[in-house]
Amino acid sequence: MDMPRTFHEAKAALASGATTVTAMTMTALASAKAKAGLNIFVELFEESALAQAAAVDAKLSRGEAGPLAGAIISIKDNLCYAGHRVSAASRMLEGYVSPFSATAVQRMLAADAVIMGRTNCDEFAMGSSNETSAYGAVANPLSPSRVPGGSSGGAAASVAAGLCHIALASDTGGSIRQPASFCGVAGFKPTYGRISRYGLIAFASSFDQIGPMAHDVRDVEAAYAVMAGPDERDNTTSHHPAADAAVPARLKVGYYTACMEHPGLDPEVKAQVAGWLDRLRGEGHTIVPLDMAMADLFVPTYYILSTAEASSNLARFDGVRYGHRAPMAEGVDEVYRKSRSEGFGSEVKRRILLGTFVLSAGYYDAYYGQGMRVRRLIRDNTLRSLSSVDVLLTPTCPATAFEKGHISDPVAMYLQDIFTVQANLAGIPAISISAGRHSNGLPFGLQLMAKPFEDERLLAIAREVFAA
Ligand code: GLN
Repeated sequence: MDMPRTFHEAKAALASGATTVTAMTMTALASAKAKAGLNIFVELFEESALAQAAAVDAKLSRGEAGPLAGAIISIKDNLCYAGHRVSAASRMLEGYVSPFSATAVQRMLAADAVIMGRTNCDEFAMGSSNETSAYGAVANPLSPSRVPGGSSGGAAASVAAGLCHIALASDTGGSIRQPASFCGVAGFKPTYGRISRYGLIAFASSFDQIGPMAHDVRDVEAAYAVMAGPDERDNTTSHHPAADAAVPARLKVGYYTACMEHPGLDPEVKAQVAGWLDRLRGEGHTIVPLDMAMADLFVPTYYILSTAEASSNLARFDGVRYGHRAPMAEGVDEVYRKSRSEGFGSEVKRRILLGTFVLSAGYYDAYYGQGMRVRRLIRDNTLRSLSSVDVLLTPTCPATAFEKGHISDPVAMYLQDIFTVQANLAGIPAISISAGRHSNGLPFGLQLMAKPFEDERLLAIAREVFAA
């Protein structure tokens, strides 16, 4: 039989004896090869995937299988998996084999998921279209001339193309939610500190979170439940107890009036989001219009702080401690200069230059210091908006997937993140669920945000109230 589309369907098929984990893994690998032209996978882990599948089948027959037995998953090329290559889609890390596994990866394996391969992404997760990858762009499976979004473009596409059930990815400013929106799948960025970042190649450490993508919220919940929780290897993971996940019969749903009036918002996406608000009102929920204070500062603040953190995180890739080493360099300075010039692509270089500038002695206070203060105010304002509602609703992105090569101005690309960076600046959980189709045939997402550590409740609301 074909591989069931979702993990919960796969579980039912396994229980009825209609398939095996090995059969599904073989189908997944064969489909990925047949669709190699979409450039979704950087590498398939055939040998380890089939070995894990056989081990899970044996456990199933003994009645000892873990909660994710039957889940075929992909991992973004910035998540470490022991004994496997990982490169952050950069020439800088070409050929690097990780000696250890990320905690999130380790927990998925321990729960008996099968990892079929690593997915393409923007270089060091910097981008919104998957076009900055050293491996080239990914095609959106729903419309191959278009981008799948970024930076987790391959992850979203791996689910949308039916190649796996769940994709693990990372979200620093929207990299899970925006591609989920462009590819018509669900994508979740947890509260900062809910999932260990150990073994995630760092971009901006105070923003980065690992999260799952899947066809529906149920599968997102299953993966999240396995990965979440404290980890002694990442001291930013939290011991905060999970909030009550019960969904109130009548929800309070907040929306930002300024967001709905945003000039960059596609009129049809706007009309459909307004339609969702009407539908919710009709179902008896309370809709609360809110002011979005400091909205103009979200994107600049994100790009000042995330580039500062990136310039520091990427300093280790110097050809000496880590990464590509230029073969023809003489002397230490030239080793650094040539190795970094050859190893990094232009978007990564732009971010390192920007980040180094905002951290430099003469400008630190004016940019980095100010950015930190503004971030604090954005967080305070966001928590204040959330204090009067159960969830905040926005479109995930201003529009649907754009054509490859269509956005060449970096600042125009950064504005893709206008609705998603708030959650990372504030550290709150946010999910994008597929909310409908545009008349151009492409999907678009609704974003729901909630208070910190209300991840389980947010997921339950998304599943129960917002199922399209
Ligand atoms: N598009 C954003 C950026 O380029 C977000 C990236 C991410 O979340 N990793 O920084």
